[in-house]
Amino acid sequence: KLHNTILELKGNIRVFCRVRPLLPEDGAGTNVVVSYPSSTEALGRGIELVQNGQKYPFTFDKVFSHEASQQDVFTEISQLVQSALDGYKVCIFAYGQTGSGKTYTMMGRPNAPDLKGLIPRSLEQIFQTSQALKDQGWTYKMQASVLEIYNETIRDLLLSNRPSGMDLTRIENGVPGKQHTIKHDANGNTEVSDLTIVDVCSVKEISSLLQQAANCRSVGRTQMNEQSSRSHFVFTLRITGVNENTEQQVQGVLNLIDLAGSERLSKSGATGDRLKETQAINKSLSSLSDVMFALAKKDEHVPYRNSKLTYLLQPCLGGDSKTLMFVNVSPDPSSAGESLCSLRFASKVN
Ligand code: ADP
Ligand code: MG
Repeated sequence: KLHNTILELKGNIRVFCRVRPLLPEDGAGTNVVVSYPSSTEALGRGIELVQNGQKYPFTFDKVFSHEASQQDVFTEISQLVQSALDGYKVCIFAYGQTGSGKTYTMMGRPNAPDLKGLIPRSLEQIFQTSQALKDQGWTYKMQASVLEIYNETIRDLLLSNRPSGMDLTRIENGVPGKQHTIKHDANGNTEVSDLTIVDVCSVKEISSLLQQAANCRSVGRTQMNEQSSRSHFVFTLRITGVNENTEQQVQGVLNLIDLAGSERLSKSGATGDRLKETQAINKSLSSLSDVMFALAKKDEHVPYRNSKLTYLLQPCLGGDSKTLMFVNVSPDPSSAGESLCSLRFASKVN
């Protein structure tokens, strides 16, 4: 292997917590609901939430306070991203209630270089490293797809957004109006029927694809946040590497997933279609936690088939694949209940 990651020493599921800054639109001013224990063992890993005068302490593999920059966060995951070039299957999730900073963490603000999120940074790094490895005889082929899972249905986010000027011979499969089904082959490859797959050759090209895909994502209104995302956003980069000197071959996959908001039903005042959406989200998030919990306990039976999300990602969860979950938390006192739920969810799989 080209790069050894520390993850191998400690099992394959990691949980990082990130707290966003207080925003002007947050509720009450200076009430601090999160703090970071300064004892040496918990330094950088502990977080304490205060709700109704009660303290709830948690420990994760890493805790980022509101002061952590996008670069600080990326520094901690760059090795994991890199391991996709070594042939690992990698999943990075962002979990949390609407407004907790998931999309900021994953996508960031694409037009502000310092505020770019993990997805653009990861892609830049992968392209850079793959170029650098040419000297050692490696040639890489990269293929991207972007989909969302909304109400347990897959939507192809690249289909209606083919960038003009992109060579059509480099785009496969996408068919309008088709129901997408998921298949796994014996080699652990996943195929989603009729999904658009794009051969990508540069960071610039992939950034514009991503931006269009993100804009195309289902967005709904809830009482909590107008921009509430009710779907799971899944970006997948398949990497195939061949070394002309050693004839070594690697096949890695990098999945970057911005999950739907985890807020509980009552708080968003859901009825009708919104109720159905919320139930689909709850079901898939609890299936994800069941899968991660089963993997963490090394259970023989892992319930991948209970949701589209876990079934889609099955070959990339478990085995020698690597999983990182960000639990995003808002410091807004009025969100303390949801934050506590998120932290509990995350500590269950850690
Ligand atoms: P989510 O995707 O979980 O609904 P967002 O990523 O949209 O949440 O974040 C909600 C708001 O908070 C946005 O205005 C976003 O720009 C801001 N925000 C989130 N995290 C940070 C951060 N670490 N630093 C600065 N602003 C942030
Ligand atoms: Mg979002």
